[in-house]
This record gives sequence, structure tokens and C-alpha cells, in this order.
Amino acid sequence: MLNKVLLLCSIFVLGGCAVQDEPMPQITYDTDYYKSSETVKPRLSTPAPGRAVSGGEGLTQGWVPPSSVEKKWTAIVIHHSGTKNGDSAIFDKWHRENNHWQGVGYDFVVGNGSNSGNGEVEVTYRWQKQVTGAHVGGTPGNWANKDAVGICLVGDFNKTQPTNAQMQSLVKLVRFLQNRYGIPRSRVYGHKDTPGVGTVTDCPGRNFPMTWLKSQVLP
Ligand SMILES: [Zn+2]
Repeated sequence: MLNKVLLLCSIFVLGGCAVQDEPMPQITYDTDYYKSSETVKPRLSTPAPGRAVSGGEGLTQGWVPPSSVEKKWTAIVIHHSGTKNGDSAIFDKWHRENNHWQGVGYDFVVGNGSNSGNGEVEVTYRWQKQVTGAHVGGTPGNWANKDAVGICLVGDFNKTQPTNAQMQSLVKLVRFLQNRYGIPRSRVYGHKDTPGVGTVTDCPGRNFPMTWLKSQVLP
């Protein structure tokens, strides 16, 4: 099973996604879930590492980085994994072994119920240490990896859509980051639309509901 997952990752994670036209159930996203959560109260204690975050009250656990290392972030870049399954640990292993990176390239991974919970937000070491990401290749001066928060949703959104739970968690996370760093909606990007992006990609997939996302986040 693990080999199968890794094989899938090896095909899709960095190589972009195969384009297929398949009938797809339309998901209607819940627009009320986070209406009352405009202000997310941060927890100021040092976050616990790893998968400490799930829905409900615990959702913001680990989102506030240690104050001693906290950076000023200026943008947010949304990705899909391009895989059916996955979680932070699987992408971490892949990025170490195949890209020879220090670890998973993203700051946050939002699960789809395959290898982590549906809508579960995993905080990676990049966010905990506030180090430069490895998720958007080729931007001028590497600005996007340095200054933009990288969020990956597990799934291949050329073939499917994010789950409702994933989008609810994503909206909550994006709003939290917007609040904390003063990031306007205009600087919330899909990977492929990141200014100066140097690689050809369809990430976060052509079914990713970016227009809907923009309608739900802060101005
Ligand atoms: Zn991407």
C-alpha cells in the first residue's frame, strides 16, 4: 500500500497532473460554517509539532508560530498534492528522498480523509521554524518561497474537487493568516497564478474553486 502511494506521489507530486476528463460530482460548499470565525483567537504558546490540529476548537492549535522566529508573511499560495492520497508525512518522505530537500515543502497540509483526517490541518516543520518553503519554483528572487505561506490540499483537483471539510478548514486557515499578517485577498494565489511563477503547472487543479475561496476570505 505504501509503495502504491509513493508510486502515485512519484508520478504526480512534482510532475504536474495528467489531464483527464471524467464526470465529477459537484460539491456545494457550506458558506455558513465560518461566518462567525472572522477573528481567530491565536494561541500564543509554542505549538506542538506535527498533527495536533483537527476541526472545531482545536483548529488553530499550532497555527501561531513561536514568537522568537515568527516572520512577516506577505502572500498565500494554494496547492493540491496531485495525488489521491497523502498527508504531511508522506510528502515529507517524498520530498526528502526524491528532491533531496530538508523535508516537506509546504507550511500546511489539509487532509482529505485518506492518510489524515478530512479537513485536518497539519502544521509542518517549515511553519514551526518559519523557514523558506519549497513549493513555488522560479519566482523572481525566490520571493514566493521566502514570503508566501504554502498550503497544500491533498487531492488531485483535475479529477475531483476538494471536500467540503477541506474548504472549510482552508477558509479558516487563510482568514487566520490574513488577520495575523495583513494579507489582502489579492495576494491569495493558486500556484499557477503566483506572480513570476517559473514552472508550468496546473496546480491547484482546474476544479479548484478559487472564485468561491476568494468570496469567503477577508477583503
Ligand atoms: Zn503547487
